Amino acid sequence: MTEQRILKMGNPILRLVASNFDNKEILSDDTKVLLDNMWDTLREAGGIGLAAPQIGVSKQLAIIQLSDESERYPEAETSEAFTIFNPKIIVLDDELQGFWEGCLSVPGIRGYVERPKKIQVDYLDELAQSRSIILEDFLAAVFQHELDHLIGMLYVDRVSDIGTLMFEDEMKLLDEVEDDQLMD
Ligand code: ZN
Repeated sequence: MTEQRILKMGNPILRLVASNFDNKEILSDDTKVLLDNMWDTLREAGGIGLAAPQIGVSKQLAIIQLSDESERYPEAETSEAFTIFNPKIIVLDDELQGFWEGCLSVPGIRGYVERPKKIQVDYLDELAQSRSIILEDFLAAVFQHELDHLIGMLYVDRVSDIGTLMFEDEMKLLDEVEDDQLMD
């Protein structure tokens, strides 16, 4: 298992639409190695989600786990470890909710992003079994952020007020930001 370099905004791989896996490929040894590397990289970075394109693999795969040990999101409670192949998102409630998002590919910066509050995600798990989950609140935002990576989008594309893009160092000095659902 090996930690991989995380690509940063500006790398063209982050802007590609990633390709699908077939079932046989999901179960292959190569994919098991890729997944181990992704979990190592995510844990080392102290993040809560990582998409394969972020380590240079333009394929429809993301992993997510909220952890109460995350340094970046210390208030998050530990969730199931999700391994998500070939996801499809269905919006169930298009009422928007906003969070201060960050991204391992855009280090040191946060921005305020509004996304649909309730979604369904259909995907294949690491055993190539079909799964369908309904998500609300913070986890719904995390899934939408990660799955955006699989269609070449970054959260900065979804920031409606560019004035909310801020360096984390500066945010800590702003009282009004801390009152408003700061993700960390
Ligand atoms: Zn990201």
